[in-house]
Amino acid sequence: MLACGIYVRISDDADGSGLGVARQLKDCTELATRKGWQVAETYCDNDVSATRGNAREEYQRMLGDIRNGRIGGLIVWDVDRLTRTPRELEDIIDLADRHGLQLACVGGELDLATPQGRLTARIKGSVARHETDQQSRRLKRKFLERAENGQPHSFAAYGYRRVDGKDVLVPEEAETVRRAARMLLGGQSLRSVVATFNSEGSVSPRGLRWASTTLRQVLLRDRNAGLRLHVGQVIGRGAWEPIYDVGTHDQVMALLTDPQRRSNRGAIRKHLLSGIARCSRAGCDGTMVVNPGRVGKDGKHQPPAYVCARCTRIRRKESDVDAVVEAVMIARLSQSDALMEVAVGDQETIRAAVAEIAQLEAKLARTADDYADDITTGEQFRRITGKLRLRLEQAKRSVAAAAPVRGLFDVIGSDAEDRWRAASLDVRRTLIEAFMSVTIDPLGPGRSFDPATVRIEWRT
Ligand SMILES: [Zn+2]
Repeated sequence: MLACGIYVRISDDADGSGLGVARQLKDCTELATRKGWQVAETYCDNDVSATRGNAREEYQRMLGDIRNGRIGGLIVWDVDRLTRTPRELEDIIDLADRHGLQLACVGGELDLATPQGRLTARIKGSVARHETDQQSRRLKRKFLERAENGQPHSFAAYGYRRVDGKDVLVPEEAETVRRAARMLLGGQSLRSVVATFNSEGSVSPRGLRWASTTLRQVLLRDRNAGLRLHVGQVIGRGAWEPIYDVGTHDQVMALLTDPQRRSNRGAIRKHLLSGIARCSRAGCDGTMVVNPGRVGKDGKHQPPAYVCARCTRIRRKESDVDAVVEAVMIARLSQSDALMEVAVGDQETIRAAVAEIAQLEAKLARTADDYADDITTGEQFRRITGKLRLRLEQAKRSVAAAAPVRGLFDVIGSDAEDRWRAASLDVRRTLIEAFMSVTIDPLGPGRSFDPATVRIEWRT
């Protein structure tokens, strides 16, 4: 009988969305029984009170027990409960190699002995590294709290600063918005305006280089024209000074939302990351284009690959890179706060609608429970759910109105994977650009694909 350890980690799950340690333990113990392993030791770290970056004591003790052979197997709820950095994951893979450690996960198969299993673990680790989970919970809790207290959530938009509860113009930022509108209405593409701004050293609302999606978001805000929104509808003038007049705003809106206007990039793209992924070689910073592949002298077909358009020294199989980026994107889009990152329009309204959707869905779930437990009758159940569904539809419509690209929000949500696969390439590319930058690092000579060389940085 294989002696195994169970490793669990307590994380902040005060809002109930997290996974309690008792549940983790129960599931892990059951898995041990199913696999016929004997639980020799249980390790439990507490992430709530521990300061960030603190060496996890129990984690260290567990590593020690693997090294000294006390345990030959390890059960975790999911790989993101086990490792928080790629470094830690590599240590575990290393231990698996040297000590024949067997790893089992409640949350799905994980086989560190095969290259495919390692790839899966690394992708999962790469998602965990960005701590999107934590971030999502923090945000969710924050805006729910505020919605319940009736407090305003939104920050002053780009171009404004909040002084004593009022939004006042920041002259340089307002001028940037005005110039962008002038340049666009003068016939320039969004992309060329962005290039001009970046060459001048102007920075986006988040202090980064401008990206087309960011500038587009800024320009689509009704408040630029001094218009006040409520539940997606303009209800009058705001108390703040507009950046430009309503006429200019209408023209900009018409231009940016025209469905005839193909992507702002000119050529229609056929690949997920061409023109988005960048080369990491020092001083190059070229963008990746796709080489469709060819038949070599040996008669073997080379698959399509991303190649740096500038230095041509970085080359990576297209499908490998796409797989990593898509897995990370799907994980990110599964989180409820993803929507706020790309929403346009009045943030307060969207937040309120998002909070309402969450509350209504929770209510629907409770109603179904009550019906299942015979607390409500079938007739009551139908009447209650009918009402809730109607309100849910309305809230969903006002959220959908905030999508910068039609159909964009259809991709975000709990079944993000299916929706992502069904989305158009245009929508997928827009989302990738809105959320992340992708840089491809060189690969050592003769080495096979390593997902760690696809470097993903979140734009937040
Ligand atoms: Zn390059």
